[in-house]
Amino acid sequence: MATKKALENAEANKDLNAFLEVFDESAMEHAARVDERCQAGYAGPLSGVVLSIKDNICYKDHRVGAGSKILEGFTSLYSATVVERLLAADAVILGRTNCDEFAMGSSNENSAYGNVLNPVDRTKVPGGSSGGAAASVAAGIVHVALGSDTGGSIRQPASFTGTVGFKPTYGRVSRYGLIAFASSFDQIGPFARNVEDVAATYTAIAGHDPKDGTTSKRPVEPISLDHPGKLRIGYFREGLERAGMDPEIVAHMQAQIDRLKKDGHTVEPIDVPLIDHQVPTYYILATAEASSNLARFDGIHFGHRSKAAKGVEETYRLSRTEGFGPEVKRRILLGTFVLSAGYYDAYYGQAQRVRRIIRDHTLAAFENYDLLIGPTCPTTAFAHGAITDPVAMYLQDIFTVQANLAGVPAISLPTGTHSNGLPFGMHVMAKPFDEARLLAAAAALFPVIR
Ligand code: GLN
Repeated sequence: MATKKALENAEANKDLNAFLEVFDESAMEHAARVDERCQAGYAGPLSGVVLSIKDNICYKDHRVGAGSKILEGFTSLYSATVVERLLAADAVILGRTNCDEFAMGSSNENSAYGNVLNPVDRTKVPGGSSGGAAASVAAGIVHVALGSDTGGSIRQPASFTGTVGFKPTYGRVSRYGLIAFASSFDQIGPFARNVEDVAATYTAIAGHDPKDGTTSKRPVEPISLDHPGKLRIGYFREGLERAGMDPEIVAHMQAQIDRLKKDGHTVEPIDVPLIDHQVPTYYILATAEASSNLARFDGIHFGHRSKAAKGVEETYRLSRTEGFGPEVKRRILLGTFVLSAGYYDAYYGQAQRVRRIIRDHTLAAFENYDLLIGPTCPTTAFAHGAITDPVAMYLQDIFTVQANLAGVPAISLPTGTHSNGLPFGMHVMAKPFDEARLLAAAAALFPVIR
């Protein structure tokens, strides 16, 4: 049966380091209950689906650690709303997947538990921060993986591993029980091998949650993957002309544009709002929010407590010094700096204003276009250790952060294969709460390669 096979497959692919833990006992127990329900004729919509959750999503009585030593030994006291909804839909949760520490990164190299290997080519990174999630799907271990996306952490690893990765509209999926990175950006979303599985999972987890005040009360539109008809599509010309873009990815995007035009869609170039300001704006705001969100990891409430500490002050300092990795520390420092009294207005306040402009421009584009398309990433997956400069790593997010800054839904679809043998993704955005059209268009207009 599916769960047993998935457990065997996870074991056979242990070298990927995609799973931090498989929940063999609870998975088999739950699978047996789902089997009984199937036989009795009232199985839920996700019966038969085996999935993984990223290590920042809480599952009652299971370990969760956000890929960090600071949460070593911590067990969830409650389940995230998405977990409750998945279990209620009869999905089986196989285990928790490796990720960059506190979801900060683009290569999964910031995990305290080691790198994840890209199943397509083990010498390459799987992308990040949801690298284990992407690898668990790409290796065929699970049908679906839940990840989180703050600046691109679902879509970029999807592009690197040849999977479909979907970030819903901000406020469409509950963040209750997601270990927060940057609360005004974070969204949970699914990875799968096709749009159908992404749509089914999204349908199960989406919708208002009284436990998360930022979720929308708008009813969730039912998803039918029928052809959406002729669409108006904008593409980011500047994105294709940027230095550092892989020429084969550019050529592929041009071919897709030509094909869509030939099929009768209106496809026009548009300007990216403040493209050179998007990544800096994201990193100022996301680190500011992170510095505040991570203040709760103090050696007292959760996880790691320094053995060397004497007194409260030292407990805070040493526990955090020992527990957090270098990237998380860098971001706490940066976030604290941009929020500090003398600099608040110059950095945080200014970035808030720029975010508003980017959001307004993005929403204005949707008055003329149903979809905005472009590449998900400038390149294919890179080798482990290839990018060591943090600022160069931050530029991985150049095409993905706009969706988080503006709060719009976005998907990465594996439409291309490079001559180096690696997959890469096409990025498609729609206006807020237009998931139904986005997913229908994704399924109909962009055949994925497998
Ligand atoms: N790569 C981005 C970062 O490091 C995105 C992370 C994310 O989406 N969680 O912040």
